[in-house]
Amino acid sequence: MEAGTGTAAGPVETVLAKWSDIASIGSAAAVLAWDQETLMPPQGGAQRGASLAVLAGLHHDQLVDPALIEAIDDAGSAVEAGSENEAHLREARRAVERARAVPGDLAREFAAARSRSMQTWQQARADSDFAAFAPMLRELVGLVRQEADAYIAAGLAETRYDALVDQYEPGTTEAELAVLLGDLRDQLTPLVKAVADSGVVIDESPARGVFSEEAQLALGREVAEAIGFDFDAGRLDLSAHPFTTRFGAGDVRITWRYDDDDFRSGLFGIMHEVGHGLYEQGLPGDYARTPLGDAVSLGVHESQSRLWENLVGRSRAFWEWALPVMHRHLPSTDAVTVDALYPALNAVVPSLIRVEADQGTYNLHIVARFEIERRLISGDVDIDDLPDLWDDTYDELLGVRAPDVAAGVLQDIHWAMGSIGYFPTYTLGNLLASQLFDAASRDVGDLTEQM
Ligand code: ZN
Repeated sequence: MEAGTGTAAGPVETVLAKWSDIASIGSAAAVLAWDQETLMPPQGGAQRGASLAVLAGLHHDQLVDPALIEAIDDAGSAVEAGSENEAHLREARRAVERARAVPGDLAREFAAARSRSMQTWQQARADSDFAAFAPMLRELVGLVRQEADAYIAAGLAETRYDALVDQYEPGTTEAELAVLLGDLRDQLTPLVKAVADSGVVIDESPARGVFSEEAQLALGREVAEAIGFDFDAGRLDLSAHPFTTRFGAGDVRITWRYDDDDFRSGLFGIMHEVGHGLYEQGLPGDYARTPLGDAVSLGVHESQSRLWENLVGRSRAFWEWALPVMHRHLPSTDAVTVDALYPALNAVVPSLIRVEADQGTYNLHIVARFEIERRLISGDVDIDDLPDLWDDTYDELLGVRAPDVAAGVLQDIHWAMGSIGYFPTYTLGNLLASQLFDAASRDVGDLTEQM
């Protein structure tokens, strides 16, 4: 694996050897971060934060090492157009150029502000007090603007929003998203309104009951295994906010949480993360620890989680198979039928909270955030006006108004982390999932029967 350090190594091998070290630092940081969210006792936080900051600094130092960019430049003339090595160099250069574009002082200031901001947001949300968070958000948005301007100055983007969304969905632009999300807005708003005005109320009781953690875990694990998650190359653990992370080839971690009176949160949360996990377990092992070894974008990643959670998990065909499995693990559901369950899994009800939204309304939650954060990053809206803008946008798109800011503008962690331009990747994932499922149905023919 230290192929690049020998004298006989070519320039591409030198780049790959350096990349292997960079990947190992990232992997070590991922282990610490996973542990922090799953097992670490509360008092471990301060030391863990310090350790993660050191690793982040090391990671950045390695990326901006002049020897690396030199090796990439040297290698450039030696590779064939259209070759795998050319792709390695393209991805390596992209990561290096982005790391070099942001001055070290700004990166450190941003990291420190982010950590304070997340704590401030947590308290402000608990107190439903926007004024307590506004100064912190103002500071953070200022830093995000500086970061975006640094990418523009380095020639890596044309608009601030382009610079930001490119971190999550390489090559995607604000202008493209405006067309896509505008279309969805125009078509979904009247559809959701018609559903809301229909007066039909779906009976969701088939999904409710009293379910133990053990029983829900056993159900979730059996489903995860049946749809292909490899427990010899992964783990499933509890965490406050479900997520997926990969330490390296052969070690993918997914997490879940559950409600004890509704099985949907636990089971669909697991199917969602299993989708992410299958994508990570499916990445070609030959590319591990190389510039081609990671997910291509967040939207593509999300397409895999949504495909398993929604297109498979909420389908009739899946439940023809899954119902007996559920009856076995959750015996109190033994009178529930597929006919009774199917509407309960697919009810469309305009609501306030994105993470609890159904498939019909979910993308409108994203449209709202996109419209607001574009204006936020361009400076077109003042921080103090955000809560009203949020409520008016929800009223217009979904016909609902939050009773307080905790259920409104403060509900998501993303802006508190300085992650602006991230939300559209959820909608891209929804759309890609549907397109992939449709294409698979055409290719396979009897996809749902086989399910
Ligand atoms: Zn996801």
